Amino acid sequence: MDAGEPRSLLTVFARILAGELPASFVWQDDRCAAFLDINPVSRGHALVIPKRSVQHLSELTTEELAHLWQVAREIGSAQQAGLGSLGQHFLVNDGRAASQSVPHVHIHVIPRYRGDWVKT
Ligand code: C5P
Repeated sequence: MDAGEPRSLLTVFARILAGELPASFVWQDDRCAAFLDINPVSRGHALVIPKRSVQHLSELTTEELAHLWQVAREIGSAQQAGLGSLGQHFLVNDGRAASQSVPHVHIHVIPRYRGDWVKT
């Protein structure tokens, strides 16, 4: 989050990071966080976000981008181990034209279960 940014301009995710709005966190480190989506596509659907508040993947440094995806991969593995999912969708809506509704980078990690997407 940018210091001194007017509260009214903070995204809902910046407000979650600031502790102003509730979320069920599943990961926290110095650069990113992950929490459960309030409107899950499947059980355990998580969002991985950078702590730096930027809208587009292109605004992240290479190191930030790599770390974000490493954490997303960890979350996918944890879902498989803990929830019994068999695979996952990693999804990024990058920009309004791509249906991004919250202007703060986020990777959806959507666990997929036997038979819930394709015949497995
Ligand atoms: O990729 P997109 O911007 O459309 O996704 C935003 C996601 O953020 C939605 O899946 C929505 O359910 C989630 N969300 C959330 N907690 C909020 C606001 C939105 O998990 N407080």
